[in-house]
Amino acid sequence: MRISVIVPVYNEAENLGPLYKRLTAVLEGIDDTPHELLFVDDGSTDGSADTIAALAKTDPRVRLIKLSRNFGHEAASTCGFDHADGDAVVLIDADLQDPPEVIPQMLDRWRDGAAVVYGRRRRRDGESWFKRSSASLFYRLLQRVSDVPIPTDTGDFRLIDRRVVQVLRRCRENPRFVRGLVSWAGFRQEAVEYDRDARHAGETKYRPLALIKLSLVAISAFSLVPLRLAGYLGSAVVVFSLAFTVYIGLSRLLAEELMPWQGYALLTCAVFFLGGIHLIMLSVVAYYIGLIFNHTRHRPIYVLDGVEPFAPAESGNPT
Ligand code: UDP
Ligand code: MG
Repeated sequence: MRISVIVPVYNEAENLGPLYKRLTAVLEGIDDTPHELLFVDDGSTDGSADTIAALAKTDPRVRLIKLSRNFGHEAASTCGFDHADGDAVVLIDADLQDPPEVIPQMLDRWRDGAAVVYGRRRRRDGESWFKRSSASLFYRLLQRVSDVPIPTDTGDFRLIDRRVVQVLRRCRENPRFVRGLVSWAGFRQEAVEYDRDARHAGETKYRPLALIKLSLVAISAFSLVPLRLAGYLGSAVVVFSLAFTVYIGLSRLLAEELMPWQGYALLTCAVFFLGGIHLIMLSVVAYYIGLIFNHTRHRPIYVLDGVEPFAPAESGNPT
């Protein structure tokens, strides 16, 4: 039995030392279990890769997998899953927001037969009100619209069995939402609760715009509800306009003047409103077409710059 730990790293130089210390302390405390630490450098510009390369020289358990530029967290973790050869694979952030001390609990659940053990956040320290409430809204929305049950209040911190890793390797969609793919894979999935700490150093890489982008990727990857919205909205407008027609007809018959509804103002509002709805729905359709277009290009999800201490691999796409 072997454990792989994947750490996606993007400009986390200050966090790597403390992370390495806490991770290795936890892993060494687990009896007789060989382990490897895969640091995926996602195009850092702050010397993170050099720090990891130095660690890899002194510790044979450490591997540096360097991407050719910044591809984003989802691509970096995918690269980790493609290279991890453990029976249990743990994905953990580099900023120490996810405490490595939870890993033994995850392993216990895994030994008891769970194929995925994800961390569920009981408390989130050091994150803004905006981030917490938008994250909570996002998870609830995603749960409602998605075809697979994606657990709420979970991040990427999780332990995944080799069988599920193999499923992930077969899913080459791009852009991707790894958490959703893990849920989609099925098998027995369980949660362990933990308190999410504040970042050890540095700042979050997920600005509001990046979060919105990821939410769109997640929703479009697991739901076609946005496409159906046009139908729902259209039906509502038809019902409303029919009722309004009847109302206008009746008031013509029964009263001298139409109610305060008449005139250009109403017409102008209605035209702009419906024009807006059309454009919004067009953009939803365009988004899905864009996804199809991206998919047909079959570009690799990431490009490798090299792997240390092993020779550079040739391609970022194992399939
Ligand atoms: N990360 C990455 N590539 C990116 C952005 C982030 O590999 O383009 C890594 C980052 O170094 C960290 C993890 O993904 O280990 C989570 O990022 P962050 O802490 O900024 O996200 P948050 O915890 O605020 O959601
Ligand atoms: Mg973080």
